[in-house]
Amino acid sequence: MPIELEDLKAAVGDFERDVDDGDVDPVELRQLIDRLEAKFSRVVRRATERGDHLLRGHCSAVSWLMNTCTMSQSSASDRLCVGKHLESMPKVAQALSFGEIGYQSASVICHLRDRLGQQRDELDEEQWIRYAREHSIKNMNALSDHMRYVLDPDGFDRDTEQNYEERFLDVSEMNGMYHLTGVIDPEGGAVLKSAVDALAKKLDQDDGRTSKQRRADASTEIVYHAVEAGTLPRRNGVRPHITVTTTLEGLKGEVGAAASELQGGKPISSKTVQRLACDGTLCRVLKADSVVVDVGRATRSVSPAQWRGLKARHRSCSGPGCDRPVNWTSPHHIEFWSHGGESNLRNMLPLCYYHHRLVHEGGWQVVRAGEGVKFIPPDRVIARRARGPGMRRAA
Ligand SMILES: [Zn+2]
Ligand SMILES: [Zn+2]
Repeated sequence: MPIELEDLKAAVGDFERDVDDGDVDPVELRQLIDRLEAKFSRVVRRATERGDHLLRGHCSAVSWLMNTCTMSQSSASDRLCVGKHLESMPKVAQALSFGEIGYQSASVICHLRDRLGQQRDELDEEQWIRYAREHSIKNMNALSDHMRYVLDPDGFDRDTEQNYEERFLDVSEMNGMYHLTGVIDPEGGAVLKSAVDALAKKLDQDDGRTSKQRRADASTEIVYHAVEAGTLPRRNGVRPHITVTTTLEGLKGEVGAAASELQGGKPISSKTVQRLACDGTLCRVLKADSVVVDVGRATRSVSPAQWRGLKARHRSCSGPGCDRPVNWTSPHHIEFWSHGGESNLRNMLPLCYYHHRLVHEGGWQVVRAGEGVKFIPPDRVIARRARGPGMRRAA
């Protein structure tokens, strides 16, 4: 008697309930799931050939599958494509059912057959089963792209242009952070990756950031660099910049001061305000009962001449062991500018984004030691505070 879906349900139920997770071989379980995925793909293919999706009011098989089986668009189209092409590739179907190749490898082969169009008979099943045994899915995809290019260069160009239309970048605020999602064309992605990678190396042996965090910081640095170069086009008459609204108390980081705000009213910490004030353009606004009564002249905390002088003295960031070129740094005031520190060469150091953040938000201290400076990590700062300030603290 043939096994029915009900029997399979009962067997899966028993397996879930009675078999200890620790006793299951994950490789064998994966093979079984992969075989069922292949079966599922053939089942939905057969259903759409019968026109089940039309009977249920869906104009496309993909939307029917998305809706009835709660699948994403890409998963639904994948299963339909695999179901369609496995029928014509008995050797691949058999290798999948014997557990010799996985579902994802079979899927790469099916998608390649789909993309090859008229040239699909050129696909050698045995050769691709061999590839699937020897290569990762990533390599299989690369091999598939190459074969597509060789056999159908015009189709490859058409695909490239179609893919290009899919590009997007979304930058949105969520839970107090910015989230980036996007798809970029191969050339744009490669140039972005090489620029980010160039700035995402560890900056010293104490650099405890993860590689993902270093890449996020590298993106911020690239954007700051572009903004500070002053070459970005103006929008509504002004070049791109960020605006922070604060009070004198907020600027000094006094306890009880109202929160400083980024444009749009987003509160930011007084430590960040102090870092931004190290190298910003400041404009005094006097208010009486919330009404602006006077606006002062905009002044830079470090003049272009002072910044040029500082850059002439240094080749790179002054952070310990840091080789970030001085053009990728901003001026930091050893005695904070917001605490009255002066913008003279003795009180200023060029710091890269990472090290500037460490000394403002990260709790590090910079102190003068003879002609040079010393960077003291937060744990030693706390120890020193417990003993009382022995040497002059950087503001
Ligand atoms: Zn600073
Ligand atoms: Zn640095």
